[in-house]
Amino acid sequence: MMPWYQSFYQPAFAKNFKETQTHLFVSQEGEGSEYLIECLLRNILCEQTGTQQQACGHCKSCEYPFVEHPKLRVIEKNPELKTAVVSIEQVRELSSFIELASSSEDDYKIIYIKEADLLSTSAANALLKNLEEPPSNTFFILNSKNLHKILPTIRSRASIHILPSPTREQTVNYLEQEGHQDAIQFIDLSGNKPLFAIQLANDHELVNSIVNLLMKGKYFDMMHVNDALLTSGFGFFIEIMQKWIFDLSSYTEFKELHYFTNITDKIEQITKTLSYKETLNFYKKLNEYARLSDTPINKSMALDAVMIDYKRIYN
Ligand SMILES: [Zn+2]
Repeated sequence: MMPWYQSFYQPAFAKNFKETQTHLFVSQEGEGSEYLIECLLRNILCEQTGTQQQACGHCKSCEYPFVEHPKLRVIEKNPELKTAVVSIEQVRELSSFIELASSSEDDYKIIYIKEADLLSTSAANALLKNLEEPPSNTFFILNSKNLHKILPTIRSRASIHILPSPTREQTVNYLEQEGHQDAIQFIDLSGNKPLFAIQLANDHELVNSIVNLLMKGKYFDMMHVNDALLTSGFGFFIEIMQKWIFDLSSYTEFKELHYFTNITDKIEQITKTLSYKETLNFYKKLNEYARLSDTPINKSMALDAVMIDYKRIYN
């Protein structure tokens, strides 16, 4: 288990699990909460957990691929749909599954909603109906990256588990132990999110080409603004851009860097030609661009627009 979740990954969780029917996890993106929750649920589902309360790995229950376990339904955003929500249909489809749960101790059902903050309003309300009068032996697990996006009426019915984040030292150790030495240089850029650091290391060529382009200030060539920059998606590009602009403004005001800590000299140079006011305006605008990433707009055109706006922050 990831060291930052060690305090949470305890037999006591499996033991106390059935005392509450709704469990709401609150975690940060890129820290591996999906892995933790899968392990916790596997421990609960295992037919032969001994005193350790850890899944044995070889009973009939452990042999099911996680998402196919007959006592479990995993609800997540349908990647084929353009909308970034978990739909009401997905929640409605649960009712036949829930009805299968009987009061017999072994006949429990677990519903795991992987991205609870993506529930559409109607889906959240439909879910709430289930949570208000939960059928006996039915358990709901929700994972959320954004607690304020969860209906207060859902929050109030749940046992809330706030998962710890890694310290920088834990991130370094974890990456070393897992053989991701190359990701260590990306820890700052990832915002100390170990799984993001690994992703950034895998995408390092793309990251470098984005940063090289941004480092040119207003003197980059629009010819170099092309879809190759979007290989890991528009959202990824915008995130790098947001961190870049954050650091430019933070350096201008406080001489501090948070993400691009290994290129201080270059940032020092480029901030000399910056309009601070325009930079802050652009930063706000980037939040709007970020919201476009899950919509079906033309990403190539959006990229051109972002880069034209970027030119304007320089004098
Ligand atoms: Zn087992």
